[in-house]
Amino acid sequence: MNAAAVVTRFAPSPSGELHLGNVRTALFNLLLARRLGGRFLLRIEDTDAARTTDEHVAALERDLTWLGLAWDEGPLRDGGTGPYRQSQRGGIYAPLLARLEGGAAAYPCFCSSQELELSRRAQLTAGRPPRYAGTCAQLDAREIERRRASGAPATLRFRVPPDRQLSFDDLVHGVQQVDCAHIGDFVIRREDGTPAFFFANAVDDSLMRVTHVLRGEDHLANTPRQLLVLEALGMRAPRYGHLPLLTGADGTPLSKRTGAQTLRELHEAGYSATAICNHLFRLGHSSAEAASLTLADMAAHFDIGHLQRASARFDPVQLRHWQGLWAHALEPAAALAWLEPFLPLGATPAQRTACIAALQPNLVAASDIVDWLPVVFGGELRWEDPARAAVAAAGAEFFRLTAAAAAQAADLGALRTASGRAGAAFFAPLRAALTGRLHGPELGPLLKAMSPGLARERLAAWAR
Ligand code: GLU
Repeated sequence: MNAAAVVTRFAPSPSGELHLGNVRTALFNLLLARRLGGRFLLRIEDTDAARTTDEHVAALERDLTWLGLAWDEGPLRDGGTGPYRQSQRGGIYAPLLARLEGGAAAYPCFCSSQELELSRRAQLTAGRPPRYAGTCAQLDAREIERRRASGAPATLRFRVPPDRQLSFDDLVHGVQQVDCAHIGDFVIRREDGTPAFFFANAVDDSLMRVTHVLRGEDHLANTPRQLLVLEALGMRAPRYGHLPLLTGADGTPLSKRTGAQTLRELHEAGYSATAICNHLFRLGHSSAEAASLTLADMAAHFDIGHLQRASARFDPVQLRHWQGLWAHALEPAAALAWLEPFLPLGATPAQRTACIAALQPNLVAASDIVDWLPVVFGGELRWEDPARAAVAAAGAEFFRLTAAAAAQAADLGALRTASGRAGAAFFAPLRAALTGRLHGPELGPLLKAMSPGLARERLAAWAR
């Protein structure tokens, strides 16, 4: 294959915020394009005007950009096959629909939604899978004219050849055989004149010269219909690969209930694009790489042969693992930029630097810092019982001595010398009095980061 000709795409319907399932689809298409030296295209499938808003489209473009999933061709990046919003492509679809309508490949359907629903229920009751019963398939030209003249609204249906066996080679699931007798005639143009998904999605892939489509498994059953449309138009079809569904930890589809967050929520909680992409890279795509990878590394390791058929579980613990690797490797300036939004407005530059030096090793998501801010900048401590016990066991004298030393300098060594103790007998009560807990960031840097006077005050509180 001519590598330069490879085109993959992400074609979301922007009716809500991006969630991890869509993001993985986008990521895999980008990686495949990069791996094969091709181009990654973004197309906005917004034919359902009622469910699409400009805010959703803008949010989607912003989220993809934040993730680093830059498209080579699409909105704002014309590659010669635009426009890239389906709502702006009516003039491109019309002649193609007319061609299908003019031949025998499609016919107007006047069935109302109530009639269709009744037929659907009757088939279900009879134990048959519901499909279009073919009511309007044989109307003659005069009858069609008569109904049109009476103003009856019509959809345009694609006429599925009943005696065809169709086969296609799915990039993930392998060869699929489909008996067209099981596919009902389907709508390609809605009553309001807008193109239906099966049609617009298929012809756009062809017109935009898309060669490989990785998309959710929920579209596997749509593929034969789309291949039939393209065949009827004499247009080239892409290769399709259907990715296993992403599920929550309990195996049910990923949803709010199973702990899935939108991309925006993860971003706002301080998760990095790198961590999110590293987790998604391993969901439904096996990888022996244990290290956190850049997008370029992921592309080098991306392999269609590694795509799996079994559903893949989104795992918040894994996401935190990748996030931790990223967070702990940040250079001080980058860590400051990452955590800055969470720091108190009044903190001086020196306090900010010291605070981050103390806390960064213990943070995974940026929002984890919120828990430690009262420890550093003052405020109510969240006391844990073992910490109370450690303070009580140490005795007032320990705190008198350490408070006096803390009044001189925020220096751990000086406090230890003053206390006359070492090891756990020194560290446990000190940590408990300063933080309310027995575990947490290293004490030396933490002591240096604390607001002036705060350490002395907390120690002195137990000196009586
Ligand atoms: N707009 C469709 C969706 O978001 C695209 C499906 C496809 O990738 O072909 O589900």
